[in-house]
Parts: sequence; C-alpha cells; structure tokens
Amino acid sequence: MKQLLAALAIVGAIGPVACRYAAPDGSEADAKAFLSEVNATMLRLSNEGNQAGWVQNTYITPDTEAMAARASAAFMTAVTDFAKRAAQYDEVEVGAGERRQLTVLKNALTMAAPTDPEEAAELAQLVASMEGLYGRGKYCQDGESDEACLDIEEITEILAKDRNPARLRDVWEGWHSIAPPMKQRYARFVELSNKGARELGFADTGAMWRSKYDMTPEAFSQELDRLWGQLRPLYLSLHTYVRAKLRERYADEVPADGPIPAHLLGNIWAQDWSNLYDMARPAGGARNVSLTDVLRARNIGPNEMTRYGERFFTSLGFEPLPPTFWERSLFVKPRDREVVCHASAWNINNVDDLRFKMCIDQTAEDFTTIHHELGHNFYTRAYAGQPAVFRDSANDGFHEAIGDTIALSVTPEYLVAVGLIDKAPDASGDIGLLLRTALERLAFLPFGLVVDAWRWQVFSGQVTPDNYNRAWWELRERYQGIRPAQARGEEFFDPGAKYHIPANTPYARYFLSAVLQFQFHRALAQAAGCTTPLHRCSIYGDAEAGKRLKATLEMGASRPWPDALEALTGQREMDATAMADYYAPLKAWLDEQNKGRPVGW
Ligand SMILES: [Zn+2]
Repeated sequence: MKQLLAALAIVGAIGPVACRYAAPDGSEADAKAFLSEVNATMLRLSNEGNQAGWVQNTYITPDTEAMAARASAAFMTAVTDFAKRAAQYDEVEVGAGERRQLTVLKNALTMAAPTDPEEAAELAQLVASMEGLYGRGKYCQDGESDEACLDIEEITEILAKDRNPARLRDVWEGWHSIAPPMKQRYARFVELSNKGARELGFADTGAMWRSKYDMTPEAFSQELDRLWGQLRPLYLSLHTYVRAKLRERYADEVPADGPIPAHLLGNIWAQDWSNLYDMARPAGGARNVSLTDVLRARNIGPNEMTRYGERFFTSLGFEPLPPTFWERSLFVKPRDREVVCHASAWNINNVDDLRFKMCIDQTAEDFTTIHHELGHNFYTRAYAGQPAVFRDSANDGFHEAIGDTIALSVTPEYLVAVGLIDKAPDASGDIGLLLRTALERLAFLPFGLVVDAWRWQVFSGQVTPDNYNRAWWELRERYQGIRPAQARGEEFFDPGAKYHIPANTPYARYFLSAVLQFQFHRALAQAAGCTTPLHRCSIYGDAEAGKRLKATLEMGASRPWPDALEALTGQREMDATAMADYYAPLKAWLDEQNKGRPVGW
C-alpha cells in the first residue's frame, strides 16, 4: 500500500468551484500561470496532508484524526477546483508538456460534483452516508443483543476458517444484509455524479474513470477484455481444480460442472481463495525453506530486515535511503499508543523525506512486504524531479505493480545471494508455492474486472436500479464462475457489500497491477539474463534491470503510460502472457490433476 496525498486519484467532490474564477483569456501565458499555481499549491497542500497524516497514523487520537481529515479535505478541494479549471483550457494552444499536465489534471477526479451547490452538497452527503453504512455494517442475527453482532473482521475470520457450509452461508448472507439500505442512495449518487462528469465533458462517470489511460474509454474496456482472454485458460484450470477439491469436502453443495457457491471460497467476495490452501495443497506438501526460522534463529530484527530491502535497491543502482528514513520511520508497534499498523510507504515532502510505517514481525511475509513497500518509496523519490502534477505513477496500476515486482524477486536464489540461506531448495516444493500465490493473485483477476465492469454499465445507464443485482451476478458468474447459494433478487444490493462501491473507489487499477507486475518481472528477468523458470528469477544485483526500472520510475506520470511501459519492458502494450508464463508449471500440474473433470461452468 502506498500512502501519498500527491496521488491525484485521491479526490472527493467538493463544492462548485469553477465558477468562482474568471474564464481563462485563452493565452498560453495564462495556462502557464495556472499550472504554476497548481503545482505550487498541490505541493504545499500535499506536504501538509502528509505531515498531518503521518502523525495521525503513528499516534491515533481524536485530535490527530481531525487534523488529518482537515488537511486531506483541503487537498481534495484544491484538486477538484484545479481539475475543473483545467477543463477550461481544452481549446487553448499550449506546449506538449503543459498539455500533458492539463490532461492529467482534468482526469484526476473520481467524482465530479455538479455546479449546482445543493446538488453538490447532496452528492457529498450521499457518499459519506454510504461509507458510514459500510463502516458501521454488522450482521446481527434476529433477537440477538448488540454485542453478539458480527463485524467485518469477525465475518472475514469465520469465512477463512469455518468449514460448516450452513454457518458460512449464514454469515455470508449476514454481511450482505448491510447493503440494501444503500441502494436508493447509490441510484441517486449515480445521477448526480454523472451530471458533474457531463459538465466536465465526459459522457458519464465511468467514461471519466476510463479516460485516464491515454486511450478512449471504449478502447480501455476492450483492452481489459483482451488481457482477460490471455489469462482465462489459466483461471479455468484453477477453477476446475478448486471446484473438485470443494466437492470432496462439501459433496453436492458444489456442482460438478456449474458455478461455485460464493460462500465456500474462504472470502466474503470470493476474490482471494488462499484460505483454501490447506484443502487444495499438493499431496506430500511443499518443503519450503523457512525464512521465518532463519530470521528468528539469527535474531535479525526489523531494522536489519529493512536494510536487506534497501540493499536490494542499491544493488540495482539506486541511491541508499536518506539518514532521515532511519530516524523517522516506524518499524515496530509501539507499546504505549495506538498506531495504524497496516504497512505503508510515505514521502512527506514529496522529495526525499522518505518514511516507512509498518509493525514488522520477524516473518518471511513481512520480509517480502518490506521489499514491496520500499518499491513505493524508491518510486516516489525517483519522480521527485517532475512537476507536482506528475509525481505519480504512470497509470494507477503502476505503483502497486512496482512494489509487487520487487516482491516477486524475493526468491530462494535471492536469499542465497544475500547469505540468509545456504542453498536454494530443489524444485519439488515449487508447485505448492505457486498454488499458494495463484489462489490469491490469479483467483483475484476476474473479480478485479467485475467491480468496474458493473459500475461502467451502471454509470452509462445500460443497467438501471431495477437490474442492479441481476447485472452484478451475471458478471460474477460470467467472469468468476461463481453464484450465490440462492437467487438474489432486487431486494438486495450485493455490490454495496464491497467497500469500493459505497466509497466510490475505482477498481480496475488492481487488475492492471496484477497483470503488470508479471510483465515487469518477466522483462526485468530477461534483461538480467535469467534462465531459470520465472518464479525462480531474481533481479537482485543486476545493473541492466536496475537501469530500466529507474528510467520508468523517473518518468512519473509525465508521459503516457505506454512510454513508461516501453522503457521497462520494450513493449508498448500490456501483456498478460507474462503471468501465464509465470504460472505455466502450475497450469501443467493442474491440468494433470483435472484429467476427466468437466472444465468451466
Ligand atoms: Zn503497496
């Protein structure tokens, strides 16, 4: 996760602002003056937001929360204002650099408030109230007292661990009961946010979201379907295998050849199946090196673990982290105060005040996460030479993908190279390792498409409130191959049971990131001359891979993303075959297990 206010994507709908300013006079000088105001203001407000956010994250009190919320609102108000004003320069002749800044700005909003002040206020209120419904959401069985209600953490835990199908179905349906009160609000939210988007010249809010990818909204939708087509055979192999394993456990609760019941996949949204690993693991089990044991045996603490991560980047040719990183970061959970432990990476002054916030445990998982988070840190420092508007990743899939690309290089071979283990294990445990990550990353992909595929149809009017739920489940069946235990009519609003819908956070970026990280990894592994299977390749210590990575990171958002992709991979198109390559050994194994089983649904 990246924690950065400079990310333009963090935007709300605040007030009618465009009308407070005189229309631009149409000169290039006017556009330049506007952009220098934008860059200076955004940098200032972002830095203030980072300072307040950092304190709030590392010292949670009602006061720090209030201060952080205030700083964040100030930033969001400014970006909303700037995005609307940027749209007024569409016809003004400006240089290529300025045009790019205006375009990035104009596409920065995830929600555009209508100019009418009452409608703008209503829209802001609707989103706040839907977020509130989600945040307070609990499943209270009839007649139970309030303390017996289950919150999302408890329901998540039950779905992860419980194997009683009736209980799983009960809590799955229970969580989905939080959403129906959102339905009318969501329909009104769609109307109002579309109105705002149209005022900015977009066809609807969904088209506005898809306009930030340097191609037309239609081309972007097709692009996602093309990428999915490259991965669908791999997904089908996994789906078939998991369905068979679930049938061994749940018998006829699971059809032999139909969609899998959604409540049995170990996760509220069936977007991550890794909780099924114990049920699905290869016989004999994987013999993995226990990095956790090594870290504990050698007593390698949080700071030293982070030093390994830093050395990964310096081995690629990046400058070491600044001394302030070590002085100001939070590496361990403090004993005396509340902090947000969820790992995040910061660049407080948007230049070189890099920080890291993580409650590090001596585990292999945290060792990998450190590498991921540092990917964000090094990215933000690499693009610090750009104007503030461009201090962001090439498209919104890139930031997470870079972190994950680095994490993909944390291989046994890398652990040998840095002296943490003596000898890399043989290939006998590889299928288990690949299956474990596939249950998380590959199983996620179709869900990563469904969330926005549904919203694009809703925003465009193709799906109306009397079809919300039907359209949702049609997409989930088509892409994910899952279905609810019992038909879910329009009295439900199942999309609302996923945070990003009430919170209005676009979702396609997670799909892009999942695809891009493997494309990055394959290209860098090739640059590094790696000849082993991709899951055993590490780019550690390779100058050529480092050079490519650096060139891409330094661009920030200053160029259309295909340029950034080309600098790293030599390709201008996204390519999901890299992920298929990475999992090719697993696919061969799955297909062997699946012999004689019906595939698909
Ligand atoms: Zn991240």
